Amino acid sequence: MSYRAPVSEFRFLFDHVVGFDQVSATERFAEATPETVEAVLTEAGKLCEEVLAPLQRAGDLHPAQLENGIVRTSPGFGDGLRAIAEGGWIAIAADPEYGGMGLPMAMTTAVNDMMSAACLSLQLSPLMTQGQIEALENHASDELKALYLPKLISGEWTGTMNLTEPQAGSDVGALTTKAEPNGDGSYAITGQKIYISWGDNDITENVCHLVLARLPDAVPGTKGISLFLVPKRIPDENGVPGVANSLKVVSLEHKMGLHGSPTAVMQYDGATGWLVGEEHDGMRAMFTMMNNARLGVGVQGIGVADGAYQHALAYAEGRKQGRTENNTITDHADVRRMLATMKADTFAARAIALANAVAIDMETATGHADWATRAALLTPITKAFGTDTGIDVAELGVQVHGGMGFIEETGAAQYSRDVRVTAIYEGTNGIQSMDLVGRKLMDGGEAAYRLLDEMEADAEAARADLPELAEAVWQACETLRETTEWMVAHGAQDRFAGSVPYLRGFARVLGAHFHLKAARADRGGKHERLAAFYIHRLLPEHVGLLTHARQGAEDLYALSMDDLAA
Ligand SMILES: Cc1cc2nc3c(=O)[nH]c(=O)nc-3n(C[C@H](O)[C@H](O)[C@H](O)COP(=O)(O)OP(=O)(O)OC[C@H]3O[C@@H](n4cnc5c(N)ncnc54)[C@H](O)[C@@H]3O)c2cc1C
Repeated sequence: MSYRAPVSEFRFLFDHVVGFDQVSATERFAEATPETVEAVLTEAGKLCEEVLAPLQRAGDLHPAQLENGIVRTSPGFGDGLRAIAEGGWIAIAADPEYGGMGLPMAMTTAVNDMMSAACLSLQLSPLMTQGQIEALENHASDELKALYLPKLISGEWTGTMNLTEPQAGSDVGALTTKAEPNGDGSYAITGQKIYISWGDNDITENVCHLVLARLPDAVPGTKGISLFLVPKRIPDENGVPGVANSLKVVSLEHKMGLHGSPTAVMQYDGATGWLVGEEHDGMRAMFTMMNNARLGVGVQGIGVADGAYQHALAYAEGRKQGRTENNTITDHADVRRMLATMKADTFAARAIALANAVAIDMETATGHADWATRAALLTPITKAFGTDTGIDVAELGVQVHGGMGFIEETGAAQYSRDVRVTAIYEGTNGIQSMDLVGRKLMDGGEAAYRLLDEMEADAEAARADLPELAEAVWQACETLRETTEWMVAHGAQDRFAGSVPYLRGFARVLGAHFHLKAARADRGGKHERLAAFYIHRLLPEHVGLLTHARQGAEDLYALSMDDLAA
């Protein structure tokens, strides 16, 4: 399956749309010059095109298998994962003290986007490891850091995150896995975790699990949760994996897609683990990993959108049907509409994700609270809109293929099946939208209004060059502002009832803001034409979405469960 890494598109976004120049102007990220960005993305792009993309079908056709307690990964995945590790692509943002490159999250985001497009089920492994590295960097003791980080950063070991249990999915606070002090500084972990991505593999010499569990004196709910690092093999003081820990993979799930990623049911039977962060404060540490993973999962959606788009475009350019100028289906208005929608939405979602990463980098570099709240505000939007875009674009990709989209050999359907889970894991998109209208508006909407002020100022500035597009974006910002005011003024239940359309409406308007910036930087060029398409045809959706968002909960619950009976 051919894939072309969009390096020049990333450069355009970095240089003209998402304000990456602010990041490279900081002392912390002074090394991230345009030349470094170009070199890093070009090298990573080559790996994605030449090594990872050819593995995509193998993962689908030959799922990971559990054989006598050993997880056998898909053919070629070992070479793929080793190539990712050898290139240093697992931890380009990680601390140089432990072997990372210390480069900005925005660059990691671009690399993850390309790896997801090339082979999503393999990319999920480095994504989990990246999240674990960040959690350990921020919350682990110096001893744990020294022992584990170099191995995770080099890719010799992989990381997983273990939250979910049969009775504890979205409601993480319901988990019951136990942790008992062993008296020597370690803990015995007992319980079952389900759906653990890359829970084991036959590629790396160790697998490190971050496990949420409860100490004996823990209070119920999320406040009583602690976080533990539980390795598959317990390393000696030199980092050599030794005795096998008391844990095992019970089974692997049979999934709709993402077949190359082993999704494991894990059993911990008094397994030895070490506390990360403080006792009963595990959610704070886990949130570091989850926020990283939420951005990363949104980016998975965007990468798949790009892969599916490239695939559909190549098919459409070769498919002759009907008498038209070029004799291919690309001349038909509806096929043009589908291709343009795919491209315009991928651009919007990618710009949002990169702006999110830039906010994280600026927070890291400056420590300024405004950047932290900007990153926090954008994270649920990136996750939900990025993954919804992946799903919608992959679906359109099937449609562009006509009947061949329904035939597995073309690979169009695989994008659609693989990406579906991204709206579910790492907090469902419903939970993301509740986070946006709940926690992220708890500041009275301050962070959202600050972003809207910037968007409106940019739209004002664009009036001189592109008055019609600028006016549409400015008006949309006003509607979003009014809806945000409505959200801030209403109670939780009313806000939750409109949270999903609010998040999508927010993303629509934010996407228009970034398209307008792109249009101004590329007058008369393809980005201006794509922005016109987005602003004229996709942006108007925000009116319906934000009207929906303001309806409150009353009529929703007026429909009783009897009314909803099948
Ligand atoms: C392929 C795959 C890989 C995964 N990888 C991992 C992993 O590596 N580690 C890990 O710990 N977990 C993992 N998960 C688990 C995943 O994070 C959960 O499936 C997800 O959090 C949802 O939980 P659930 O499946 O129990 O659904 P439920 O929580 O039962 O949700 C069902 C529906 O109810 C909605 N809902 C639930 N609660 C609320 C609420 N309070 N308000 C509004 N709506 C609500 C949800 O949005 C959803 O639509 C994975 C899952 C899959 C399928």
